[in-house]
Amino acid sequence: MDFALTPEQQMIYDYGSKLAQSYDHKHWLEKARAHEFPREMWQRAAEDGFCGLMVPEEYGGGGLGLLEMALLLEGMADHGVPLLMYVVGPTMALGHISKHGSDQQKSRYLPDACAGKTLFCFAITEPTAGSNSMRINSVAKPDGNRFKLSGNKVFITGVDVCDYAVVVARTTPHDQVQRKTDGFTLFIVDLKAKGVDYHAIDMSIVAPEEQFTMFFDEVDLGPEDVIGEVGDGFNTLFDLLNPERVTVAALSCGIGRFAVNKAAEYASERVVFDGPIGAYQGVQHPLAVAKTQLEMASLMTRQAAWQYDNGEQAGPAANMAKYAAAEAGIMGVEASLQAHGGNGFTHEYGIYDLYSMVRLMRTAPINRELILNYIGERVLGMPRSY
Ligand SMILES: Cc1cc2nc3c(=O)[nH]c(=O)nc-3n(C[C@H](O)[C@H](O)[C@H](O)COP(=O)(O)OP(=O)(O)OC[C@H]3O[C@@H](n4cnc5c(N)ncnc54)[C@H](O)[C@@H]3O)c2cc1C
Repeated sequence: MDFALTPEQQMIYDYGSKLAQSYDHKHWLEKARAHEFPREMWQRAAEDGFCGLMVPEEYGGGGLGLLEMALLLEGMADHGVPLLMYVVGPTMALGHISKHGSDQQKSRYLPDACAGKTLFCFAITEPTAGSNSMRINSVAKPDGNRFKLSGNKVFITGVDVCDYAVVVARTTPHDQVQRKTDGFTLFIVDLKAKGVDYHAIDMSIVAPEEQFTMFFDEVDLGPEDVIGEVGDGFNTLFDLLNPERVTVAALSCGIGRFAVNKAAEYASERVVFDGPIGAYQGVQHPLAVAKTQLEMASLMTRQAAWQYDNGEQAGPAANMAKYAAAEAGIMGVEASLQAHGGNGFTHEYGIYDLYSMVRLMRTAPINRELILNYIGERVLGMPRSY
């Protein structure tokens, strides 16, 4: 067994750390408070070849795997620059096109996306279906060999800065299919197309990316917009669920580590009684526990990514990593906040600002309970309640 990163993997982690340090956490925080996407940093990463890490080289990407993507995100988040956009765009949307798109779609969309000229978001969640994606109601009605997409989506990240969305719709409504997984189709939707509309949701999350409600009114789509097979979208979708969990786990570990490191520095200097507060076990131990949980979660995240890249069954490790990382990340920010005392709540220190983002990871893109359902049912073989 070899836990060491290859020189290339180490270089990718280091690139993420350096990018985050050169734009720096303060810059991210300013953008996050203003809900402004850090376009310049994204462009720099794209020019350096880091926006299409998992895209095949022939389409302008890095031809690398999920482990490399996770390392990039961990490197950035470890230094206080977590970007949700990397999960929905380069991982989910570009992942679907790279793995299941036609040659024409790959040539048309991937090189520009890797070069940072275009951005993609990913839209599945609907107000009435929520976590139960099987019940989505957006329908792309067949119309000759074309489709008319109608319906709406909610909490879609980054729509305002994107050019295209990968949209999950039904080409057969859920009450007309034999198996609930039948009848899904994935489409590439041009956000400038007639019938597409979106509005920002007023969110309490401190993040550069905003979330949107999207409306589709008879949007005209052709066979050239379908990713994979019509009606077989569930299998396409299934392929990218583990990468989503792994990249979110990498972000969670990074946010937690960043907060714990800040607290260790702060507590080593802050004196209020005799000596620095970091010498008191009441301050030290919660940080030490969080650090331990974070490193365990990070190991499992890397394991899940490695399994995915090597064609092994990655579901159990990806789900456990997502669960463990979200909980460890929250624990890290919480311990850091407590160690910072009142300063943790100031704009200057910005620790409380990390809380909404890290807490999100327990709820999205899949909530803690569904993750535990997966582990209980699929890993431990217990019966299903729903
Ligand atoms: C900031 C943010 C960004 C997002 N970005 C995107 C995006 O880019 N694209 C996209 O498609 N979606 C996105 N989402 C949506 C996200 O994936 C959903 O919010 C999430 O899946 C939960 O769905 P819901 O909000 O409808 O909660 P619900 O489904 O209403 O669930 C509410 C709560 O009920 C509990 N629960 C639900 N079902 C079960 C069950 N079977 N067993 C036990 N407990 C259960 C859980 O605690 C859950 O948190 C985003 C959400 C947020 C907040």
